[in-house]
This record gives sequence, structure tokens and C-alpha cells, in this order.
Amino acid sequence: MQLFTSIARRAFKFLSRRNAERLWMHYAFALSIIFALLFAIDQVNRTITERGTAAKTVMSVGSNQVLLGYDILLQTEAAINDDARLFQTLDQNIAAFEQAHAYVISSPIWSDALQNHYFESERPLDDRVRIFADLAKRLPTAGPVEQSIVQRALNERYTARGLKGQLRAATELIESTARAEIDRLSDLQATLIKLSVAMLVIEILIVFAPAQLTVTANIQKLRKQSERLQTSREELQDANSWLNYMINHDPLTGLPNRSSLMTSLKAALSDQDGPEMSVILIGLDDFKSINDSAGHDFGDAVLCEMALVLKSCVDDDHVVARIGGDEFVLISDEAALELVGRIRASFAEPLEVNARRIPLSMSIGYMEISAGKQDPLSVIADLGLALQVAKNQGGNRSQHFHNQLRDEIGSMRQLQLDLVDAIKNGEIEPWFQPQIRLSDGTLHGAEVLARWRHPKRGLLTPDKFLPAAEHSGLMVDVDHSIWRSAMNLAQTWQHESLWRPCISLNAAPDTISDPYLIERFLFQLQKSGLEADQVVIEVLETTLIEGKDDMAAINIDSLAECGIALELDDFGTGYASLSKLTQLPLSGIKLDRSLVAPLPDHSADSVVRAILALAGELGLHVIAEGVEEDEQAKHLRSRGCAFGQGYGYGKPMPPDEFRAWLDQNADRALRAGQAGQVAVKRA
Ligand code: C2E
Ligand code: CA
Ligand code: CA
Repeated sequence: MQLFTSIARRAFKFLSRRNAERLWMHYAFALSIIFALLFAIDQVNRTITERGTAAKTVMSVGSNQVLLGYDILLQTEAAINDDARLFQTLDQNIAAFEQAHAYVISSPIWSDALQNHYFESERPLDDRVRIFADLAKRLPTAGPVEQSIVQRALNERYTARGLKGQLRAATELIESTARAEIDRLSDLQATLIKLSVAMLVIEILIVFAPAQLTVTANIQKLRKQSERLQTSREELQDANSWLNYMINHDPLTGLPNRSSLMTSLKAALSDQDGPEMSVILIGLDDFKSINDSAGHDFGDAVLCEMALVLKSCVDDDHVVARIGGDEFVLISDEAALELVGRIRASFAEPLEVNARRIPLSMSIGYMEISAGKQDPLSVIADLGLALQVAKNQGGNRSQHFHNQLRDEIGSMRQLQLDLVDAIKNGEIEPWFQPQIRLSDGTLHGAEVLARWRHPKRGLLTPDKFLPAAEHSGLMVDVDHSIWRSAMNLAQTWQHESLWRPCISLNAAPDTISDPYLIERFLFQLQKSGLEADQVVIEVLETTLIEGKDDMAAINIDSLAECGIALELDDFGTGYASLSKLTQLPLSGIKLDRSLVAPLPDHSADSVVRAILALAGELGLHVIAEGVEEDEQAKHLRSRGCAFGQGYGYGKPMPPDEFRAWLDQNADRALRAGQAGQVAVKRA
């Protein structure tokens, strides 16, 4: 038992470890054993049934033989005594008697006892049956005496000498033999059934249970694998959505990017029943200089802050996307102009970035689109055109897109191409506008203003070509070309003793930031023969605001060190901080025309007075621009403003005209509203 348990345990262990894929072999083996046992049981059953039937037949044949013996005796007796005809049927009975004997001794129910009984005992039954039959067969042919002897002998053998008893005993032996065999078979059957049950138990223990465990283990393994798969699927989904997010979003601001915008635009355009949409493209003016001067991190922070402000300008379900360095696109169902107005208002105040206040100037291109009219690419391209036009016009503008813009852009490009030749050929010429001492009306100096005598387009004012020059990087060359001509002309007029000139030269931000500014400027000054105090450089507020590049600051200091006076142009329109005014080596400020025009209006007067007081405190002289009326001039003088410039004294004039003007007015005391007319008359 112990051995069996240990074998079973080992087998169980071994089988538990088996390969799940080969389980079918174990099942097949186990089932074949079970089937073999069932087959054996079935065979035993059949044998039992067959043996039982055979035993019954043999026993009935045996019993019949006993009766046949009787019949033979009775028949012989009757035939001898009464009816000789009976001899005729005696043969049949004898034959049946012998057949019954032959059947019994050849039957499958056989045993040693029967063998002994029939063949090996002292008086074997087989011999006695044959003798009895042979005797009986002699009767029909025997004579009467012999017949009675034979008949007695038959009687005696059958009854007295025990043939009948022996036949009966044979039947009993057959019965007991059959019974013994059936008992043996039944035992065998019981053993087989027990064996089957035992095999079943064993198989359950060593095949089915371990197999079940293997299957369960495999199911658990599969379950774990499927859980792992589920987890990795979720991770994959996460990674996928992150990737999707990255594909569709700008990593810096988190806003949708260009490709996402295209999808939104496509959806908006394909929605036939959708409302008319406004699409707005915003680009910062001169974002590069913020990056260059304050660093890219600060530039990034500006963009992030800007993204937040833009988002606050529209509803949550409207689109705000960043499609390039400093370019943002908004899609909204609100009227474009209203939205543009709100955006402008949101950026009216300087933006607070990293505890610094930075004014942002931006250009805007906008348009309305209705479903199915355009494809997203051409919408963006058209907006790009509008934005470019807005920038070309000096920036800080909003431009509605219309189809003529394409022509305008085309002509702008042509203008840029023409500009190169224009600078070379001296087509850009300096015009001069007088600057008057308000105290006595005498000539103080002249501002030099650029004009382009375009061979095809005629006379162009700065607003028509300076943006193109800025965008094609030609501004520095334009300035130097104008300066050179202006200095040469001034020197000529000096030689002619018309005037000891003092000319104010406008300098674009690019020119002020140009690393070669000082060399080029001083070279020209020297070449012209003018003194340093005869030239003033006008710089725009935007050139000087906080955050602009170091080169500009170095150049400004260098110019001041060379004795060149610097004036801050357009004062009052920008955001120049007061502290900056004290830090820069300025000699004067130019009061913007927008502040002068409303004078002597009370509120305008307050601002002008405040500025004049401040300038006086800082030791800066003030030149009022756009003086058109004598009343304005008087008012400014009464407030302590030193100089005035404007149409009231003289419009910008081409060199010849200005020379004539000088000839007539250089030594005169002028009144606003008079001198200009004189000059115009002479031109
Ligand atoms: P700015 O420097 O403020 O020049 C004054 C502008 O006001 C001039 O326009 C001038 O014609 C105009 N103006 C003067 N008095 C009056 C007046 O009484 N009423 C009115 N309505 N306007 C008056 P302009 O010549 O068209 O020049 C426009 C701007 O272009 C200038 O503004 C200046 O910023 C720029 N600019 C002109 N020439 C040059 C140049 O050679 N170089 C650079 N960098 N910029 C230039
Ligand atoms: Ca100016
Ligand atoms: Ca100005």
C-alpha cells in the first residue's frame, strides 16, 4: 500500500508537470485502459450468458437422454409383446439417444469430473451408453428368444445396473460444472469491475486530477497573460493617445497645432449647415527681437502667456491654435471684426511675463468663411497674405482678406525687387521739413523724410515702400542712402551760405541695431564735412523699449559719445518707460502729432503740459510734431515747448524746393500757417 501511495504520488507529481499540449495522449491512454476493462467485462458477461445457455441446453439434452432411454425400454418391450411395428420407430429413438450422448460429450460445459464420469471411471458412462445403444439396435433383427434376452439385458443395464442413474448423475455434473464455471466467471466479472473502479480512481488521481490541475494552472496563466495583455493594451492606448496629443498639439503652449487646425477647419468647411465662421491669423511684430534680447525662454513664456490671453478671448468650444513660431489662428462663429477688436483690447496693455511688463505689437489677418467654399489650405494661405500685408504696412494692423490682396502682395514683391535698384540709382531721395524755434519763429533745423520717385508708380511716400524695405532687410541701406544724400545737400546749402544746417535723420530699428552703424555714419558725416552738432538722429520709442537688443544700446551710447544728439520720435504713442528716458543719452523728445492735433483742448493740454514738465525736469528739449495752426504753436510756446514742426510751417519739400524755401525763409521769423504757403507757392 505504501509502495502504491509513493508511486501514485510520484506519478501525480510527474504528471502534474506535464505539457498541457500533450494532455490528449494521457487522456487517450487512460480512456483506452478503461475501455479495455469495459470490453473485458462485456466479454465475461457474454461468456456467462453463453455458458448459462449452453448449460441449460446440455442439461435438457441430458435429461432428454434419460427419457429417451426410458422410451427405448418401453418401446422394445411393447414391440416384443404387442406390436412389432414399433421396431420401425425404435431406430429413431436410438439415434436420438446417441445424438443426445454425442451432444453432451462434445458440449463446451466440461470438467474433469465429467471426463472421469464419461470416460475414465471404472465403468465409463460413454462405454455403457454405446453398449446400451448397440444392444437396442440388435432387437429388430433378433429372433424372439434373443429379443427377450436383449430386452432383459437392456432393462437391467438401464435401471438395475444404473445407466439411468449415471445419466442423471451426468446431468447433475453438467449442472454443477456449469454453475462452477458461471461462479468463476462471475468472480472474474466482479474482479474486472473492481479493477475498473480501481483504475478509474487511479486515473483520476494520476491522469485526470493532475490534468485538471494543469488545465487550471494553464487557465490561470492565460488569465494572467490576458490581464498583462489588457494592461499593455491600456498602456498602448495611453501611449497612443499621448502620441495623438503630441501629433495634434503644440508642446509649448498645449494649443492645437497646424495639423489639428487643418482638421478643425476641414470639419468647419464640410459642415454645409454650419454657421459662417471667422478665421483669424495673428502674428507678433518683431518677435525675433524679444527672443534675441531677452532670450528664448522669455520668448517661450511670452508665447504661453499670449496663448492664455487668446483663449480667454473666445468661447471654450472655439479653436485657438498655434501654427508657427509666433503665429496663432482662431476660429469662431463670432463676427470677425468684433473678435479682432476684443483681441486688440486684450493686448492693449503690456503683457505681464515673468514679472516683466512687455508691450506686444501684433498684426492680424482675418476673413469670414462659409461652408464648402474653400479648402483649409487656401484659407490659411489667404490669411497669411492678409497678415503679410498688415505687417508690410508697418505692423500693429488688422487686415481683412479680400481677393485684391493677392495683387497687392504681388506689387509689394515687385516693389521689394525694385527697391534694390532704387537704392543703387539714387531714386530714393531726401525731402526736408523745417523745424522752427517757437520762441521767435526762426528756423532751427529740418527733418529729413524719405520719398521714392518710382519710374512707374510716381512719387511714393514712406508708408508705401518702407514696410517693403523693412521686410526685405533693406531698411539699413535705405536709411544710409537717405542720410548720405541729405548730408551732402546740407553741406551744399552751407557752402552756398543759405543756412548753417541742422538736419534730423530718421533711423529705423534695424539701422540702430546694425553693428556697422557707427562706422558707416561717421564715414558719411566726415565725407560730407558737416559737424557732429549739425546732425540729430531720431529714434523710435520701440527701438528703445525694455527688452530690445544690446547692439542698439551700444550704438546709441556710441552716437552720444560722438556728440550726436538723439531725439526720441513719436513720443506719447508707445510705451517708453520714464526711467528709460533718464537712462538714455537723449537730448530731446518729439511730441507725437496725435497729442498736438487736439490742442488747445483741455485734456490734451494736460498731457502736453505734463510731458513738457517732465522733459524740462530731465533737461530734454521738446519738438512738437504736426503743428498746423498758429494757435497750436502759440499754445505750445506758452507751455514752454521749444520747437515746432508741421505743415503750418512747411510741408516736407524736395531738395530744390527746400533750397528755395531756405533762400526765402532761413533768416525770417515765421508764423505757423504762413511760411508753408510761401514755400508751396515758390515750389
Ligand atoms: P515721422 O518721423 O514721425 O515723420 C513725420 C511725419 O509726419 C512725416 O510723414 C511728415 O510728412 C508728417 N507730418 C509732418 N508735419 C505734419 C503735419 O502738420 N500734419 C500731418 N498730417 N503730417 C505731418 P512722412 O514723410 O510720410 O513719413 C512718415 C514716417 O516714415 C516718418 O514719421 C518716419 O517714421 C518714417 N520715415 C520717413 N523717412 C524716413 C527715413 O528716411 N528713414 C526712416 N527710417 N524712416 C523714415
Ligand atoms: Ca521722425
Ligand atoms: Ca514723429
